[in-house]
Amino acid sequence: MASLGTCATSDCGKEAKLQCPTCMKLGIQGSFFCSQECFKANWRTHKVIHSLAKGEGIDGGKKEDGGFNPWPSFTYTGKLRPYPMSDKRTVPSGIMRPDYADHPSGYPLSEQAVKGSSQIKVLDDEEIEGMKVACKLGREVLDVAASVCDVGVTTDEIDRAVHEACIEKECYPSPLNYYEFPKSCCTSVNEVICHGIPDMRPLQDGDLCNVDITVYHRGFHGDLNETFFVGNVEQKHKDLVRVTHECLMKAIDIVKPGEKYREIGNVIQKHAQAHGYSVVRSYCGHGIHRLFHTAPNVPHYAKNRAIGVMKAGHSFTIEPMISMGTWKDESWPDKWTAVTADGQWSAQFEQTLLVTDHGCEILTKRRNATGLPHFMDKL
Ligand SMILES: [Zn+2]
Ligand SMILES: [Zn+2]
Repeated sequence: MASLGTCATSDCGKEAKLQCPTCMKLGIQGSFFCSQECFKANWRTHKVIHSLAKGEGIDGGKKEDGGFNPWPSFTYTGKLRPYPMSDKRTVPSGIMRPDYADHPSGYPLSEQAVKGSSQIKVLDDEEIEGMKVACKLGREVLDVAASVCDVGVTTDEIDRAVHEACIEKECYPSPLNYYEFPKSCCTSVNEVICHGIPDMRPLQDGDLCNVDITVYHRGFHGDLNETFFVGNVEQKHKDLVRVTHECLMKAIDIVKPGEKYREIGNVIQKHAQAHGYSVVRSYCGHGIHRLFHTAPNVPHYAKNRAIGVMKAGHSFTIEPMISMGTWKDESWPDKWTAVTADGQWSAQFEQTLLVTDHGCEILTKRRNATGLPHFMDKL
């Protein structure tokens, strides 16, 4: 039998052996506990997810949004709503942590020290090796997320699988406590552009779910994301996801020493626009190595004024967010969840790249026979 991971009780840490019978009946995946004792101790918070799965409010009343609305006066741009979150997860002290992991406000002091500088680090051989290992592990964690992402699975359950996979691979999940981000990965559903927070919402048939993974391993970050299909996805949403991935691949095609970082946006917008889509402007690709987000800044839109020329030894991400309607974004009151201003859906793909002598290496590439993203397995 496949391992069920660790007990859903936060900080229990024991091996999970039994699943909640109500969850099984309702088709909610996950919810594994080590013992009857832990299951009973968790019951009061755990049973909320049963009500949510049945479309009831937390108090039992039938409500479209599960009856949970932490921001009653906020006007949502689309149909997605927030759900309750699980407790904060912890990382064993034996795993090397970035500086912000233990900062009370999650400030990455090492990043802030070089903020405003447009100088791009050229990695030495040892640093390149460090990046290759971190990125390979990040890819393995994203593949775990892909394997659990399905109808009825909560994004919190994806987060749990991601968190445990990180620990198993001796990685710190980079998003956790970064500027106080509360979870170990970002899960961005439908009209969420990026930085969605995993919660107790069960994924629905037809959803798009982007999972963004960054791992920190022995001093280096590796960052990637993919948009997954949940069940049967409408053709117009499949097209959005396909074109978004094409945008990323076309951008990667121009990466080589001597190319200007500002050219990437021209390539991406040209392709997106040809299909009637727009390019999100508020969030950009970024340099990444010992720091999670640093120079260069890599906008995905055309006619941008990004600074810098590519050189062998640079490592950075390209991560276009492509929307069906407006390029404009808004944030939920949680100050993280970025949604499209018109509620139309958005998709994203990301890879971490290393500029080589004649082009680039995709450090976070999928290591199966085809190297194609997971949504293509379902086409
Ligand atoms: Zn990412
Ligand atoms: Zn990134």
